[in-house]
Amino acid sequence: MLQNDQTHTQTPQVWEGSSDQAVPITVAYGDGIGPEIMRASLKVLLAAGANIAAENVDIGEQAYLAGENSGIGADAWDSLRRTKVFYKAPISTPQGGGYKSLNVTIRKSLGLYANVRPCTAFAPFVATRHPDMDVTIIRENEEDLYAGIEHRQTDEVYQCLKLISRPGCEKIVRYAFEHAQAHDRKKVSCFTKDNIMKFTDGLFHKVFDEIAVEYPHIEAEHMIVDIGAARLADTPERFDVIVMPNLYGDILSDVAAQITGSVGLGSSANIGEHGAMFEAIHGSAPDLAGQGVANPSGLILAGVMMMVHIGQPEVAERLHNAWLKTIEDGIHTGDISTDDLSTHTVGTEAFADAIIARLGQKPSTLPVIAYPKEGRKFAVPGAVRREPAHKELVGVDVFVQSTEAVEQIAAKLQQGETRLLLLTMITNRGVMVWPRGVPETFHTDHWRCRFQALPEKQFNKTMVLELLGKIHRSGLDFIKTELLYTFDGERGYSMGQGQ
Ligand code: NAD
Repeated sequence: MLQNDQTHTQTPQVWEGSSDQAVPITVAYGDGIGPEIMRASLKVLLAAGANIAAENVDIGEQAYLAGENSGIGADAWDSLRRTKVFYKAPISTPQGGGYKSLNVTIRKSLGLYANVRPCTAFAPFVATRHPDMDVTIIRENEEDLYAGIEHRQTDEVYQCLKLISRPGCEKIVRYAFEHAQAHDRKKVSCFTKDNIMKFTDGLFHKVFDEIAVEYPHIEAEHMIVDIGAARLADTPERFDVIVMPNLYGDILSDVAAQITGSVGLGSSANIGEHGAMFEAIHGSAPDLAGQGVANPSGLILAGVMMMVHIGQPEVAERLHNAWLKTIEDGIHTGDISTDDLSTHTVGTEAFADAIIARLGQKPSTLPVIAYPKEGRKFAVPGAVRREPAHKELVGVDVFVQSTEAVEQIAAKLQQGETRLLLLTMITNRGVMVWPRGVPETFHTDHWRCRFQALPEKQFNKTMVLELLGKIHRSGLDFIKTELLYTFDGERGYSMGQGQ
């Protein structure tokens, strides 16, 4: 058995397990309230019998201050690759500068594509307006706007690329159905905004429909994310498992956790084919750091998921039931404490000690947790590569910066036309302004100018380069191009709004 380390060090340190079977895990104490809640969480895990050999790594602010510009050093990566299990306290992400979000970097670098966030109410012991809520949100973790590819393109316009892939959609949607099946869930809901983003969110929805038919015993439904979010906030008990692209999942899993009673109760598992990371869903709460009052429940319940993952379900069961009993007994941290429901308002450490005192006990009102001894394992779905489609170049969108009137811009662009290639449309922030438009439309300095090749004519990239040369000579400032393709004859680009 491990001893809990009260003073974590700057360099990775291998903790000795008491037996050969101790499962190696990588542990990061994080920033803000991180060290306090990690100490409490490891203490209860070890008391519950966790047989783990932890390697302690520094990431986040400490690594950054030690000269690791990315916020994570080679030693930490080595440990993660070796153990493939990461127990991580929250880390602070510098806003507006410094390193990019380390959470996103770790999830994506290690391919932890499925973010699983159970959001369960603990009524009547934790105040909530949704006592019957028991939703698991499965958020895609690697794609979408979190590619973090952003550019300032003109004086006025900035862009962020939203990247969605078919293998990425297939992996996460299949994971959601496999998870639902393994946990006896009855329904999987999918939220997208494919009425607007027909290609990216449209692909997610399409893949959802394709994969849903393989699980006929599980109900499948799709909702536009805005009404889905409204219903989740209003009647969360109507949902069971919800699968979403990255950004919607990020936002709505916080909403769902918060309406169970506190964001401090939310835990998450980040699962991939080659490893897993377990963390609370909340951040480093700098407003509470150093006060010993933070709720360690999110990280403790993430530890419960980790125990199931590493094949120690009996430890998970003992700890989970003791945690439920502690909550039932009204022993609460400040974030969930209320006059009518709490018997004691305690700090982080006292809460951990209260759980330890209840190990072996079960809740009397809340459902008792039983984790099957054989686990609820299913193979983590991997990516499937398809045969490449027949891809045909049929045009090009040229983006230009200009403050001239659209008619002048069009006249300059038409100098680039040939008998094969015609200027067919100009849009401003997606809405068509040429050849038809309305005077009320506000024009920025950023124009998307579509050139399309006549059908059945040969069009190639050399012609694109010639076009760009002519546009350059016309005095227009082109800032980017996007080639227009068909894939097996199917259009691979969106139309202009109003086209
Ligand atoms: P936050 O989750 O840290 O805090 C939001 C609110 O919830 C605060 O009022 C805080 O006091 C409260 N809270 C959070 N955890 C709590 C707990 N365990 N017990 C009691 N109350 C708790 O969100 P934020 O303030 O937006 O972010 C702070 C920092 O955390 C930022 O640098 C952010 O980038 C980072 N962050 C990290 C992660 C992660 O490591 N996975 C996730 C989210 C945010």
